[in-house]
Amino acid sequence: MSEPDVSALKTVAEAMAIIDAASVSPQATVARLSDAGGLILAQDLHADRDFPPFDKSQMDGYAVRSTDVHAGAKLRVVGEVAAGATSDHVVAVGEAVAIMTGAPIPSGADAIVPVEDAIVSGDSIALQKSTSPGKYIAKRGSDCLAGTTVLSAGTRLGPAQTAVAAAVGAMDVRVFKRPKVAVLSTGDEIVPIDQRPGPSQIRNSNSAMLVSLLQRLGCETIDLGHVADDLDLLREALSRGLQNDALFVTGGMSMGKYDYVPGLLRELGVELLITKLRIKPGKPFVFGKRTAKPFTYVFGLPGNPVSAYVCTLRLASRLLARMAGGTLQERWSSARLGSPLPANGPREFYQPARLIDGDAVPMNWKGSADLFTLAQADALLVRAENEPAMPAGSPVRLLEIPR
Ligand code: AMP
Ligand code: MG
Repeated sequence: MSEPDVSALKTVAEAMAIIDAASVSPQATVARLSDAGGLILAQDLHADRDFPPFDKSQMDGYAVRSTDVHAGAKLRVVGEVAAGATSDHVVAVGEAVAIMTGAPIPSGADAIVPVEDAIVSGDSIALQKSTSPGKYIAKRGSDCLAGTTVLSAGTRLGPAQTAVAAAVGAMDVRVFKRPKVAVLSTGDEIVPIDQRPGPSQIRNSNSAMLVSLLQRLGCETIDLGHVADDLDLLREALSRGLQNDALFVTGGMSMGKYDYVPGLLRELGVELLITKLRIKPGKPFVFGKRTAKPFTYVFGLPGNPVSAYVCTLRLASRLLARMAGGTLQERWSSARLGSPLPANGPREFYQPARLIDGDAVPMNWKGSADLFTLAQADALLVRAENEPAMPAGSPVRLLEIPR
């Protein structure tokens, strides 16, 4: 595989260092917990009480004195405690109180005999086997003590974290706002998806893809649609995009006669910190910062969908995570290569792969326009620059593709 000399271009690692050095200022706000799913906490949350808040039955059964329980024992059932109720009866020798899962243990009792282990006859139960003190009782505070930090600032509110916030009574939570991110597609050949493309035209798949991916990455998105490779139209659309926290532009980023975007970005006050990268796919990648207020970061992505996807997932995601007040959530894994691979070229390569029976099987992708292969992939198989050929069975690293 021979390709133009890329030795002067930045490596992926260098690009990541530049992106990681970019300063961000996430904005905190107060949101209803029910609207805060997926957002990043801007405050610590503490347990407002012990969990469980009382000694609690873990089974439907009978609260008993453990020393009363042995094979052949018979106990008198003298009352009942339902979940949500309390009993002021003190369980005496030879007594049992019927109890439901989640109900507080009446005093005097120190174990629960499950319904399954008791034979009921009239007001009594007959027992088959002994028990031990504390059996099927969750002690007050055994999950968590009042005052414990249960969620720290910087935590993403996934479903389980949202449950914790609800359990400690956090009706409103201080969270970071989602970054507001504009998406603009460019190119004379592009038509909106509701138009019939002419013979030399293609539909705009990038905008829909990026809006979806950026939402998955925690952004609020503004779809600016598509503009042709026309200097005035592009200038106007780019200026609008620059009014947001970040702008993603696809197409017109490389060496073609009508690749106006990098020049226009400079004209609009964007300092280009990265132009071109030793990455495959995605070489024409651009990263810049508009230095006048309002600050805006710009990701200039190649027009080819797989390139735009890979650059957003691998490079932009790390900045977006910090802009959202959190940290990068990339999911990496290791696997064995399911079929041999030829030597890699001089660019770090992200090749669509499937996971089949735990093995990473590289897909026969047809290049950076091949979004059909991307849509079948489970992960991107990462190959180092100039990595030698690899036989099946070699260990490889995979970056999970979010579905
Ligand atoms: P460019 O980066 O402008 O040189 O475009 C590279 C390739 O990506 C061309 O074949 C374009 O037709 C294609 N492309 C550019 N923009 C889009 C888009 N919004 N949706 C799908 N393909 C695109
Ligand atoms: Mg173009």
